Amino acid sequence: MPTRFIFITGGVVSSLGKGLSASSLAALLQGRGFKVRLRKLDPYLNVDPGTMNPTQHGEVFVTEDGAETDLDLGHYERFTGVDAKKTDNITAGRIYSTLLSKERKGDYLGGTVQVIPHVTNLIKEFVTRDANKEDFVLCEIGGTVGDIEGLPFFEAIRQLGYELGRDRVIYLHVTLLPYVAAAKELKTKPTQHSVKELRSIGIQPDVIVCRADREIPIGEKKKIAQFCNVREECVISALDATSIYKVPKNLHLEGLDERVLQHFKMKSKAELSLKDWERIVTRFESPRGEVNIALVGKYTSLGDAYKSLTEALDHAGIEHNVRVNVKWLNARVFESADAEKKLQGVDAILVPGGFGEEGVKGKIAAVKYARENKIPYFGICFGMQIAVVEMVRNLLGVKDATSSEFHAAPTKDPRGQVVGLMTEWEQDGATEKRSSGGDLGGTMRLGAFPCSLQAGSLAYKIYGEAKISERHRHRYEVNMNYAEELREHGVVFSGTSPDGKLPEIVEIKGHPFFIAVQFHPEFKSRPFDAHPIFSGFVKAAKEYSKTAAKVGEAA
Ligand code: GLN
Repeated sequence: MPTRFIFITGGVVSSLGKGLSASSLAALLQGRGFKVRLRKLDPYLNVDPGTMNPTQHGEVFVTEDGAETDLDLGHYERFTGVDAKKTDNITAGRIYSTLLSKERKGDYLGGTVQVIPHVTNLIKEFVTRDANKEDFVLCEIGGTVGDIEGLPFFEAIRQLGYELGRDRVIYLHVTLLPYVAAAKELKTKPTQHSVKELRSIGIQPDVIVCRADREIPIGEKKKIAQFCNVREECVISALDATSIYKVPKNLHLEGLDERVLQHFKMKSKAELSLKDWERIVTRFESPRGEVNIALVGKYTSLGDAYKSLTEALDHAGIEHNVRVNVKWLNARVFESADAEKKLQGVDAILVPGGFGEEGVKGKIAAVKYARENKIPYFGICFGMQIAVVEMVRNLLGVKDATSSEFHAAPTKDPRGQVVGLMTEWEQDGATEKRSSGGDLGGTMRLGAFPCSLQAGSLAYKIYGEAKISERHRHRYEVNMNYAEELREHGVVFSGTSPDGKLPEIVEIKGHPFFIAVQFHPEFKSRPFDAHPIFSGFVKAAKEYSKTAAKVGEAA
């Protein structure tokens, strides 16, 4: 059976949750026995989001095969369990860079290179590339209809509808119905305009998913159907949900998956069960207890900057039946004298990934505080590098220990800087080499790498196996020259690359839960299957919350 394509566009405003709608629909189709794949087209000109600031764009999601992608790919993976690939996210920047190098090679010799057909052809190739094993490819277009950068993408998906035929393509448009308090009404006009815009570029949506903060009256749905030329049952309400895990069921109750199958004249291959989703919603909404976790980071002004991380904490909370309250602490608050006050009532401390020197002093103070007060600590990537810097400074007395990422003067210690630029590593059987001053985009150590765990360690206990694989995204590495001396203080490198050269996990013997990892475990956590470290961390926080010796309450 040929693959069907479901295109998801957005209108009126951004941040409407197109990614969640796409992920939920994919999960529903998967639950009906179909094989799905999700893709994202991002019209911006960056080649990938790798060099973007997370406070602007949200987190950079890393795939198994080492692509730095849009955070929606994280939703796709979490909702369907299907690992995204390098080829599942493309930006206008990448399309243009491919196009221009082809032009330089002479591939278009004699011809004028144009948006139509050259750019649009590359987009179409991307959308349809190795997608013959799937029943459905769901392809989301970033931004909103009418954006200048989006035009070639909309044109490409329009052409695909024409070329593949409407029995292989469906267009789904996600819009907003704002509530106008003075009129006490949900307004359909922005939706009408946005569909008008879509139709002016030749796309007639088959389904309209209407986001609203309250029940959409039937009369309004009828109006949208009529003005937008869509069947009434294809106007789907997507009301604000208290939990993202409710979205698949809500959309199912509105008939979204049914409408899509009807469009393609297809029948379910399996009976859909939403029991698992219902179970996690119940757990998430009525937990038996709660834990407070301080997240000491730099990008705390935008929740999306740590999307996979907060999701992974929620997954662990679901597993342990507790609500995980994240206390966002900008690392700079730890630089103040009353920093400890900010940790009042905190059951655990997490220092996530990060870049650059800003806030480092505060992060080091947070590590020291967690280490000395035996508060559960979880350091991720930068959170591990910083932890080792802290311990080398405070346990070994190397006061000028730091990371060469901060362009500091080199340490006087003969063992060298504690965290330094990675200049060489093995990847897919080849040696990757880097030097300072090279390109910043796409050049980190990226994607899944194996790691061996030491028997008897906390890490081994957490994973229950000796060989693991986790996703990475870093340019610097911890210097192992300090390992021997740190061991005397109970600090153990319990996970390393299989050749023993690269440190992957640090922990402290005798501390209730102190684990810092060079990789990003948050990318592999799933709502139905919490990541073992997050699970262990939340469990430790839960245990800590029961002890009297909470921060600030200690005698
Ligand atoms: N800035 C550090 C590095 O590049 C850590 C990166 C991260 O936390 N993802 O190695």
